[in-house]
Amino acid sequence: MHKVCLLGATGSIGQSSLEVIALHPERYTVHALSAWRRMDVLLDLYRRFSPQVLVVADRAQRDDLYRAGVRCDVLYGEEGLLSIAADAGSDIVVAAIVGAAGLLPTLAAVRAGKRVLLANKESLVMAGALFMQAVQEHGAALLPVDSEHNAIFQCLEKPGAGLAEQGIERLILTASGGPFRQYELERLHTVTPAEAVRHPRWSMGPKISVDSATLMNKGLELIEACYLFGARDDQVQIVVHPQSIVHSMVQYRDGSFLAQLGRPDMRTPIAHALAWPERIDAGVEALDLLQMAALEFEAPDEERFPCLRLARQAFATGGTACAILNAANEMAVAAFLQNETSFTMIPVIIAEALQRLPVRAVHSLADVLEADAQARRLVADHLQALREG
Ligand code: NAD
Ligand code: MG
Repeated sequence: MHKVCLLGATGSIGQSSLEVIALHPERYTVHALSAWRRMDVLLDLYRRFSPQVLVVADRAQRDDLYRAGVRCDVLYGEEGLLSIAADAGSDIVVAAIVGAAGLLPTLAAVRAGKRVLLANKESLVMAGALFMQAVQEHGAALLPVDSEHNAIFQCLEKPGAGLAEQGIERLILTASGGPFRQYELERLHTVTPAEAVRHPRWSMGPKISVDSATLMNKGLELIEACYLFGARDDQVQIVVHPQSIVHSMVQYRDGSFLAQLGRPDMRTPIAHALAWPERIDAGVEALDLLQMAALEFEAPDEERFPCLRLARQAFATGGTACAILNAANEMAVAAFLQNETSFTMIPVIIAEALQRLPVRAVHSLADVLEADAQARRLVADHLQALREG
C-alpha cells in the first residue's frame, strides 16, 4: 500500500490526482493534504479521504478547520509543508503547488528520497541544476506529470540514461497554442483575464492558463525538459499542435519518431507517474481514432508570443537568469489577472527584469531565492510606477 502526500491538493492537478487515487483504494491511501485557500474544498477532501495530516496557510485557517470538526493534525505555513513533504508517513509526494512556493517543499520531498510526481515545473526552472543533483544524491524517483514531459518519459527506451546513449537526437514538445493562437498582435493588447483563462483544450489553474496563452508555459517546459532529460536547448523543438492529442515526441537517430497520444486529460500522466512501471486505470475514456480530427503541426510565432524567446534566452544565460524569468513572470501574470496590467505587457515586464538585474552563478539555494526576491521587488516597483502613470 502506497501512502500519498498531496502538496496543493485543492488545485486542478491535486484534484485530478485524488480522482485517480480514489479509483484504487487497494493501492493508495492519502496521508497528507495541503491547501492555501478554498478551505471548503479542503474540508470536503478531508471527509472523503481521511488523511492523517492537513497543512493550511496560517493559524486562523487551522482553528477554523478544528471548529468545523476536523480531528486530524493540522499544521500551517511553510514549516507545515516541509514537514509533510519529508515525513515518513508517505512514500509518494505529488508536487502540485503552483509557482515558486512549491520549490522548498518539493525539494524537501526529493531530499527525503521519495517518489516525487512533479507538476510544479517552476521549481525546476528556478533551481534545475541543484534540484537534479538532489535527486541523484538522495535516490529520489522523479516522475514528470507535466503532460509533455510525461509523454517524453514514456517514449524513452532507457529512462535515466543520457540522450546520446539512447540514440536520441531531438525532443519535440507540443503546444496547444493557447486561446489566442490565431489573434493578430493588435487584438492581443486588449484581451482580458477571463479570455486568457478559457483554454481551448485543457482545464487548469489560472496561472498556468495565462502561461499557456502567452506561450511562457512552453518556455518553462523547454527549461524543464532540458533539466529532466539532460538535453541542450537546441535539442528541444517546440511545435504548435492545436488538437492536443500528441502530447510530445522523441526523435531517434535512425529516423524513428516515438509519440505518446491520448485525450487532453491530466489523469493519464498522473496515473502513469503514480504506478510506473506498472499501468493502472486513470478513469479516462479511450481516444476514438475514427472520430479524431486531422492532426496539425505549425511553428510557434515568437513575434506575437515573445515569452518563448525570453525563456530560451534565460536558459542560455544560465545562473540565476531562469529564477529571474520565473519570478518576473509570476508577478506579471498575477498583475494581469488582477487587471493591473495588459496581456502584452507581460513579456515587456519580464524582459526588463532580465535586462536590469545582475545574473549570478548558482552555488546554493540562497542564490536562487535571492534572485527570486530581487526580481519580485523590481517588478513590484515597475507595476507601482505604471499605476502612478
Ligand atoms: P491551481 O492554481 O489549480 O492549484 C494550485 C494549488 O497550490 C492549490 O492547492 C493552492 O491552494 C496551492 N497554493 C497556491 N499558492 C500557494 C502557496 N503560496 N503556498 C502553498 N500552496 C499554494 O494550479 P494547477 O493548475 O493545479 O497547477 C499546479 C502546478 O502544476 C503548477 O506548477 C502548474 O504549472 C503545474 N501543471 C498543471 C497542469 C494542469 O493541467 N493544471 C498541467 C501541467 C503542469
Ligand atoms: Mg504541459
